[in-house]
Amino acid sequence: MIVAIDGPAGAGKSTVARMLAERLGFRYLDTGAMYRALTWLAMREGLDLGDGHRLGVLASEHPVELDPSGRVSIAGADVTTSIRTGRIDKMVPVVARHPRVREVMRERQRRLAERADSVMEGRDIGTVVAPAADVKVYLVASADVRAARRRAERPEVGDAALETDLRLHERDREDADRMTPAGDAVEIDTTDLEVEDVVDRIEALVRARQAA
Ligand code: C5P
Repeated sequence: MIVAIDGPAGAGKSTVARMLAERLGFRYLDTGAMYRALTWLAMREGLDLGDGHRLGVLASEHPVELDPSGRVSIAGADVTTSIRTGRIDKMVPVVARHPRVREVMRERQRRLAERADSVMEGRDIGTVVAPAADVKVYLVASADVRAARRRAERPEVGDAALETDLRLHERDREDADRMTPAGDAVEIDTTDLEVEDVVDRIEALVRARQAA
């Protein structure tokens, strides 16, 4: 079974998807981490981030590993923490927009999801990666709440609130093409909900589907 959780940055996807996967005993597949890891590697190698062909080759040569404990690695390096920085936030949409990169990632994501029941988190899971997913959810939240969550996740930006808000806004704009909710996704606004409530709701959708 595949549970697809899509939505913009700061909508609560990661926390919700991780907790849901744990409850259900499913694998958690963070597709954003895969694009982040590739961006990290491309920057380390000093590649031109505008060269989609070269980046596609890099992606196929160095498949991102997501281990069940949540560690992310690429090209033999554990990048779990180094991909969660403002610099990567900023550059990842530049890498992720290349069709060749997306093609390689999509195939890898599909293969990973074939191995076990999975909760997949991203931007285009319900529409492109797994259009036949058993349960599709699209999370949204108010701009203020999303920016506050992002600030809490990025202690290094400190109180540079305005900059964080701007970056989030910029990233949304760059990601916009990939962010249309699937027509059959259930939209959940997480602005005023506790994480547990969101997870409860999605779990109920999964249980209903399992019982069907
Ligand atoms: O979800 P997260 O913030 O980690 O995603 C980082 C970036 O990766 C997004 O801003 C987007 O550019 C890209 N992404 C994507 N497709 C996905 C997941 C992430 O393009 N399925």
